[in-house]
Amino acid sequence: MEKIAVLTTGGDAPGMNAAIRAVVRTAIFEGMEIYGVEHGYKGLLENRFKKMDLSSVSGIINKGGTILQTLRCPEFLNKEKRKIAYEYIYNNKIDGLIVIGGDGSRKGAYLITKESGCPCVFIPASIDNDVYGTDYTIGFDTAVNTGLEAIDRIRDTAASHERIFIVEVMGREHGFLALEIGLTGGAEIILIPEMKNDFNLKNILKILENGIRRGKDSSIIVMAEGFGYTKDWAEKIQKHTGLETRYTVLGYIQRGGKPTALSRKLGLTFGYNAVQCIKKLKKSEIKMVGISAGKFTTVDLKQTIGKEKSIDKKIYEMNKVFSI
Ligand code: ADP
Repeated sequence: MEKIAVLTTGGDAPGMNAAIRAVVRTAIFEGMEIYGVEHGYKGLLENRFKKMDLSSVSGIINKGGTILQTLRCPEFLNKEKRKIAYEYIYNNKIDGLIVIGGDGSRKGAYLITKESGCPCVFIPASIDNDVYGTDYTIGFDTAVNTGLEAIDRIRDTAASHERIFIVEVMGREHGFLALEIGLTGGAEIILIPEMKNDFNLKNILKILENGIRRGKDSSIIVMAEGFGYTKDWAEKIQKHTGLETRYTVLGYIQRGGKPTALSRKLGLTFGYNAVQCIKKLKKSEIKMVGISAGKFTTVDLKQTIGKEKSIDKKIYEMNKVFSI
């Protein structure tokens, strides 16, 4: 393999730059030419390949976002449009592609290899941590810490005013982020889409009322964005408990920021492993790098298609114990 390309796609995640740095430097160390594709899959459709050298990735290890930029690209769902990308990959004599992105991007990478034969390695990077085949994605730890900082501040206010606070965190239709922030932030209740059947207004009120009876002056509820409308829940809870109930939507502040040590380490190691892996790939092969049970892994990406990552229910049960 002489010439490879790297791109970032989907939502940006802190640590993507560390991954780009690792891919570029490892590829050059291995004697390969390395190209960056700007704007993710959209850049593949627009022939936005640019040659990268050692200095292209200087000073980025501590930066959030991605220097290659990323755009959502609905056109990539269209098979005819994807053929344009394959022509550019072929015409630019790219022997292999490294895709850095989240769960949606994983499906796009799978189709590239399946339809064009171009060997590919997928690097999971997403603040949502919703990618099957890896315990952690690049950026998740940073987003957890950002959410945690917000919760700690909100708790000061909640306690001073005897309030209930609902804090909505990101995560699309999954509760990985909410679960981790809720547990480590000491939330009284964590509301996630995966456990929706366990929660109705009646049992939420019961938990809150138990706390009040024990003399708690405030309660924090962490809610995943996929659970429902934060404002509606706040209104219902206030009406039934008679306690002032406020809500905060953390929104986009969870996406960016300086990557934590863990997000950087995953970026650097996944990037390094991806280049080591792509060197050995043959036509129509696609792999994914990741981490499982504390060990860095490389898995056949085809085996992950159609599978959904599930939450660790033990964490959920543990938090229930802590908030009795
Ligand atoms: P993320 O990768 O962060 O989960 P998205 O779900 O938006 O973000 O996916 C990123 C991009 O991947 C999309 O804009 C689209 O170009 C591509 N993509 C997502 N799903 C598919 C699919 N089923 N087939 C082809 N491309 C896809």
